Amino acid sequence: MKIGVFGGTFDPPHNGHVAALEVFAEKCGLDRVFVIPTGTPPHKAAGNTSDTDRLEMARLAFGHVKNAEVCDYEVKKCGKSYSVETLEWLKTQYPNDSITLYTGSDMLLSFHKWYKVERIFQLCSVAAFSRTGDDRAALDEQAKMLREKFGGNVSVYDFEPLAISSTSVRNSINGGLDFSALVPESVAEYIRFNGLYGCINIENAKELLRSRLPAKRFEHCLGVAKTAVYLAEKYGADKRKAEIAGLLHDVTKNLSNSEQIDFCTENDVPLDENDLASPQVIHAKTAEFFVRDTLKITDDEILSAIRYHTTGHAGMSLLDKIIYVSDFIEPNRDYSDVDHYRALADNDLDNALFEGLKWIICNTITKNIAIHPDTIEMYNYIINERT
Ligand code: ATP
Ligand code: MG
Repeated sequence: MKIGVFGGTFDPPHNGHVAALEVFAEKCGLDRVFVIPTGTPPHKAAGNTSDTDRLEMARLAFGHVKNAEVCDYEVKKCGKSYSVETLEWLKTQYPNDSITLYTGSDMLLSFHKWYKVERIFQLCSVAAFSRTGDDRAALDEQAKMLREKFGGNVSVYDFEPLAISSTSVRNSINGGLDFSALVPESVAEYIRFNGLYGCINIENAKELLRSRLPAKRFEHCLGVAKTAVYLAEKYGADKRKAEIAGLLHDVTKNLSNSEQIDFCTENDVPLDENDLASPQVIHAKTAEFFVRDTLKITDDEILSAIRYHTTGHAGMSLLDKIIYVSDFIEPNRDYSDVDHYRALADNDLDNALFEGLKWIICNTITKNIAIHPDTIEMYNYIINERT
């Protein structure tokens, strides 16, 4: 039997790993591949992703790869494992089988410094794959050196890598960016559900809202989030973004109008005379600031949907429209013709948006208060679009 070993921190596993593992198994004709997440040394444990999370994510990421299985040997050992020790253990388990060790560029280029490198080469051959696609010459040269100096059986394979690293995934998540193209969907779900790497977790967001808002306003936010997910599914928007924007759109609504203005002054959130003439819209600006600055969500689509949920603006995105409409049809709304607007939203989002906008403009006029210019621009934009 030909056995492969694919070791790594997998914090988290990403699509670059998956693509590499698939090609490794195929090109080396492997009958079994052990994916072996490293253990966390006790002094590094605090603040790091737990071993359990990394194992679980590895199972989710690599479970579908033919002949691959995740092995908890190094994690169970607790603490630093040298590759040579893992290979010795594997050899005792499979004494008559050959072992091939996967190395990405970074691993191969530092391989000569690995602990007991000569012994490693007695236990296994090494298969090297580029991580960037442009370092073939360096890999060939290093392989030649390892062969000559340590008698290693090293092969470099042709491979078109996905230039992703776990570091780039962690940074994207931490910056609130969309990371869904970087990791398998099941891993993304796991990260979101467990709030790993600073990912805003829906449950955390709900707790935050519950602590900030009166019960009725909190229920309204849950209703908008629920409706937004429904509309996102129906009209093809990102459901997670819809849920987060829906939940958080009123996160600063606990502040009075004068507190909203103070908040803007303290945090350098620009306000102009139009905002001051319609102070009821300022909470959308303060919510956008709070979500970006305090919750560290930097996704432009989420921020825009929050920013414009009250005034609207010309040329709204799909997510902007979904949050705007969800706000006036969510299940807790009970004005007399709410069902009419719900039916409109079910049939044609743009039509619901337009009808809702007209209602809001008329209602604002009835109250003798200023209409924010963003709302007027939105109205004119839609009129031009429709004619
Ligand atoms: P970090 O950014 O935290 O260092 P990483 O992306 O380098 O993480 P590791 O878990 O350290 O991931 O890598 C495990 C193995 O997979 C290593 O052999 C590494 O060289 C290889 N590898 C990582 N990313 C890729 C990629 N995009 N293409 C090919 N091989 C990769
Ligand atoms: Mg690395």
